[in-house]
Amino acid sequence: MLCTILGAPGAGKGTQALFLKDKLGVPIIATGNLLRDAMKAETELGKSIKDAMNSGHLVPDDLIVDLVSKRLAEEDCKNGAILDGFPRTLAQAEAIDKIFPVDIAISIEVSDEEIISRLTGREICTKCQATYHVEYNPTSVPGICDRCGAMITRRNDDDREIVKERLVIYHSETEPVKKHYEDLGKLKIVVGQKEVADTQRLMAEAVGVKYDNN
Ligand code: AMP
Repeated sequence: MLCTILGAPGAGKGTQALFLKDKLGVPIIATGNLLRDAMKAETELGKSIKDAMNSGHLVPDDLIVDLVSKRLAEEDCKNGAILDGFPRTLAQAEAIDKIFPVDIAISIEVSDEEIISRLTGREICTKCQATYHVEYNPTSVPGICDRCGAMITRRNDDDREIVKERLVIYHSETEPVKKHYEDLGKLKIVVGQKEVADTQRLMAEAVGVKYDNN
């Protein structure tokens, strides 16, 4: 099953992708992580996208479609994948649907106010990408991931002003992607809940798998 998780930055796409990965047994393709890895490794791609990434703007469609389609052609994606953070524009959705049609698009809906509160306190594991919140969901030991023991960090683009810019871009560029999948009869809406487990239950329902909180 090829499933995409749509939603504003901070809606919980990464957390829910990890949950679905275990349920569906397919890999996650998180475009933001692929791009951050390229930046860290200072590849040609990494250098060319640095300014866009750091200011919260989107990287060019052709570049990201190329990256995702190459990844989807790999052996471990033969039974599908979970796309996190892609497609983010109508052009990306139309392009990928021609090569690898998406089976289901789940949009996680969270208010802008809640997004700002979540992202300005967000912390992320440098290794397994588990996310925490300094106030609402802190790690047991400050700075260390509960899940895998690696160090946690903050993202540059989680700065308040950049978050606001990312939300503007989300509403103008990514909202139309929802309509695209709605027209294809592939859209499921999940209202993001306060408790992660409650959102997981709704996610399981959306993809038609059994939910057990283990
Ligand atoms: P994310 O980790 O999904 O919040 O993505 C972080 C940043 O990576 C975004 O603000 C964009 O600069 C870039 N990015 C990630 N996915 C895409 C995409 N599908 N299209 C364009 N830019 C993207």
